[in-house]
Amino acid sequence: MPAALFSDLDVQATTDAPLGATTWYGIGGRADLLIKPNTIEDLTTLVKRCDRSGTPLRVLGGGANLLVADEGVDGIVISLDSPVFREIKYNRQGEINTMRAYAGADMPKTLMDVTRQGLAGISQLAGIPGQVGGIIKMNAGGTYGCVGDAVASVTCITKRGELVTYPASELRFEYRKTNIPDPVIVAATFNLEPTDPIALRDKVKEIFAFKKSTQPLADSSAGCTFKNPINPVTEERVPAGKLIDEAGLKGQTIGGASVSTQHANFIVTQPGATADDVMQLLALIKQRVFDHAGLELQTEVVIWKREEEGI
Ligand SMILES: Cc1cc2nc3c(=O)[nH]c(=O)nc-3n(C[C@H](O)[C@H](O)[C@H](O)COP(=O)(O)OP(=O)(O)OC[C@H]3O[C@@H](n4cnc5c(N)ncnc54)[C@H](O)[C@@H]3O)c2cc1C
Repeated sequence: MPAALFSDLDVQATTDAPLGATTWYGIGGRADLLIKPNTIEDLTTLVKRCDRSGTPLRVLGGGANLLVADEGVDGIVISLDSPVFREIKYNRQGEINTMRAYAGADMPKTLMDVTRQGLAGISQLAGIPGQVGGIIKMNAGGTYGCVGDAVASVTCITKRGELVTYPASELRFEYRKTNIPDPVIVAATFNLEPTDPIALRDKVKEIFAFKKSTQPLADSSAGCTFKNPINPVTEERVPAGKLIDEAGLKGQTIGGASVSTQHANFIVTQPGATADDVMQLLALIKQRVFDHAGLELQTEVVIWKREEEGI
């Protein structure tokens, strides 16, 4: 890896860095190079240089939706853990109530902060782990709504290293994806609304309790493994968990990876599991659901493998 890409930049660079172990699955290999930029300027320079030199670039969020292959990943993995990328700023003037959160900010902590202040807008994210950047990238959400419902704008770095801000009117937040074309999300501004803090806290608690009663939140997982596929006849999404359950796969185990008995769309891992166990189980589930229901499942979990293009 040419050190010329980053040696003059204000970054912390670690070679052969643990990566899989830092994800919510807690399994998988290492990053050839993990870089934590300390400034936005140096991050933009690094992105531009990676593009010009054809160096694969991946952005790590909270690792809550990520499976890293056992052999690890090549190129550069960026982590937005420096203080500048974890900042949260409020703008409360008269009718205006917005929050600008940088991409490395922890979303559950941010939700706690706005809830304490009696600011409504992102309670639909209760119980969803991740950083602001990863939450935006995946348009995380569920029964109660998605993050896109509250977004006023998103600031990104283009491949060429330019900072661009997209207003909500230019953004499309769809089921677990957005139309953001750029490799790095740097920050997002959220519309919030002052409300009764007690009622808001109760709402957040209610949403969290609902999630806890239906999903194995205490186990190691990456949340829902597959997207809910569209039934071509009804043109409606069918819960992937229902299809996996109907294919008789609840509790199915390969090595240290199992289909959760509580929610069949969660693959949970035991200590000693490998990423390969999870990948084999993914392949088995896809095949069995196709054989049983004729529907093709697509992974919601992002899989990083060596020598595959990042992001
Ligand atoms: C227990 C559990 C429950 C969950 N429940 C839900 C749920 O109810 N609803 C839901 O939608 N999800 C759920 N998830 C999945 C996960 O919380 C979301 O997908 C979340 O958005 C992941 O964010 P992250 O920061 O951890 O991203 P990561 O897992 O680190 O990365 C995911 C993707 O986002 C990209 N990315 C991350 N940060 C950036 C950035 N700054 N710029 C550009 N790209 C970036 C990564 O490159 C990768 O492609 C759950 C996960 C767990 C473990």
